[in-house]
Amino acid sequence: MEKEYWGGGEKRDLITLDEANSLGIPFDEPERVPCPFCGKDLPPLGMEFMGQIRWVARGKCGCGGEAEAAREAAAREQAEQQRKAAKKVSDAGVKPRFANAVTSNPLISRYLTEDAMREGRGLYIHGAVGSGKTHAASALARALVYEGESVVMTTSIDMLDEVKSSYGESFSSQGTSRFRKCGVLIVDDLGKEGASSWVLTTLFQIFNGRYESLLPTIVTSQYSLEGLERRMSRGGESETAHAIASRIRETCTPVFTGRADRRSGA
Ligand SMILES: [Zn+2]
Repeated sequence: MEKEYWGGGEKRDLITLDEANSLGIPFDEPERVPCPFCGKDLPPLGMEFMGQIRWVARGKCGCGGEAEAAREAAAREQAEQQRKAAKKVSDAGVKPRFANAVTSNPLISRYLTEDAMREGRGLYIHGAVGSGKTHAASALARALVYEGESVVMTTSIDMLDEVKSSYGESFSSQGTSRFRKCGVLIVDDLGKEGASSWVLTTLFQIFNGRYESLLPTIVTSQYSLEGLERRMSRGGESETAHAIASRIRETCTPVFTGRADRRSGA
């Protein structure tokens, strides 16, 4: 509340109880208005109207309760923002185990700061089982979600299951649309899926669709790219396997996470 008011054509200070007493202006006993934080009476502030003081406002208590309430409100707001951010990360497909993942891998950190993503470039994160690929990809997903990207993170098996359950064994491109059109697609554990004609065709449809739209795809795999191609070819679909590997090779920077098992450590 401003301690000023307009009276007689000029700006005047509001009058305190002490001032009213010392000026000898008559007034009614002010109503008690307790501080909502400490309960102490708030100081009344008035203005002179036709020779009498009218109590029109209350001053601040000064107990600090208001400041503390503001701090508490700010803390609640921050917690709410964190909850919303965590929900977005979870909605993007990051598993609870990796919800707070961070990465110190320089190639991945650099990827986040470069314009590579806007040019449709992705990463091929490969290394031994337990070398931290999912952890690194989850950290990347989190960072991208915080930047406001529409991220879908999924394992290749879950992705194919989702396509299959929505459209059966048909080759309808609509079943793949969520994965073809999201801002950033992160496919975890590529190479774990089957190698049927349907699987290979569906994967190619997704990878090629993103390639043509300049949308970045991030892949993790326990196989090197050559190893992945061999593995995908095991059902006899070597041409499609080659085409998928070529798309990945053209657009994804390889990141090797190593041979060591870091699950036993951190
Ligand atoms: Zn107070």
